[in-house]
Amino acid sequence: MSAPLVDRFGRVHRDLRISLTDRCSLRCTYCMPADGVPWLAGSTMLSTPEIVRVARVAVEAGVTEIRLTGGEPLLRADIVDVVARLATLEGEEGRVEVSLTTNALRLPGLAAPLRDAGLARVNVSLDTLDRERFATLTRRDRLHDTLAGIAAADSVGLSPIKLNAVAMRGVNDDEVVDLVRFAVERGYQMRFIEQMPLDAGHTWDRTTMVTQAEILERLRGAFRLEEVPGRGSAPAELWYVDGGPHTVGVIASVTAPFCGACDRVRLTADGQLRNCLFAQDETDLRTLMREGCTDAELDAALRAAIAGKKAGHGIDDPGFLQPRRPMSAIGG
Ligand code: SAM
Ligand code: SF4
Repeated sequence: MSAPLVDRFGRVHRDLRISLTDRCSLRCTYCMPADGVPWLAGSTMLSTPEIVRVARVAVEAGVTEIRLTGGEPLLRADIVDVVARLATLEGEEGRVEVSLTTNALRLPGLAAPLRDAGLARVNVSLDTLDRERFATLTRRDRLHDTLAGIAAADSVGLSPIKLNAVAMRGVNDDEVVDLVRFAVERGYQMRFIEQMPLDAGHTWDRTTMVTQAEILERLRGAFRLEEVPGRGSAPAELWYVDGGPHTVGVIASVTAPFCGACDRVRLTADGQLRNCLFAQDETDLRTLMREGCTDAELDAALRAAIAGKKAGHGIDDPGFLQPRRPMSAIGG
């Protein structure tokens, strides 16, 4: 039995987030610039066998969940094959669970093949239910396609479906109640995310961001909320809506950081391992693999990267530096 992927603070790592591409079909203002994105070069992108190799070594070291993300992961041409290969990986605790975070635009055509390939569930970004707002916020008039994608995921059983909205002042903060109603009526889980300093334009401002406290206050004006106990390492804190069973979540990365229980590690589309969204350093697994490393060397690199993880992201520290890569190139 191999030792778990544990860091200096005793956090055992079980969740691997893999970014499959830095490309995207939307341009959400909190994530990407309108244009002029410096794309990763094709030759630096991990091939599917390279991705599967890193994932296999991680699963053998105790990772039990793989989340595919990006950029928009459904833009990867061989996404169904990637899922099929990852879903067969097995560790000591059995088969790994493979899920996906997506803007859902391509789900109408892909939901059934992805489910058949072994995908367990999806998280979908949905920041607004208003077509014009969606077009402004994502710089693309595609609300209809996102909604069709969510319905497609639901119809093939890719559940529980979780919907993510980044709460933004003057943009969608007046819609939190409507978004929860939309989700509850369909049996989905709505989750609000505090905006983090990860936008390419570096426009984030701590003083104007919408906080968890504010989101809850708005929701309490419309629903009875009771905290769900037993959060574990999950980023979202959950509340039952009007006595349950449906829940709403808030991911309060800024005002109530959950770094102390973090069990996540990230692999970028160009093969860099990041032990935190906000890390300044990366471990270059691509070069290691292309220079012919053994699985034992890959495992050692994974362990060293995790061992060096900091206690927290330090967004509130005076010396905080935004990561050099935007969220779309890290993998959310
Ligand atoms: N394209 C897919 C999507 O939008 O779901 C996957 C990648 S996206 C980078 C993953 C998640 O990161 C989304 O839920 C998105 O809302 C979130 N995100 C992006 N930029 C963010 C920011 N500055 N603060 C908080 N969340 C952010
Ligand atoms: Fe694309 Fe997702 Fe970023 Fe929006 S949040 S621009 S959908 S990667």
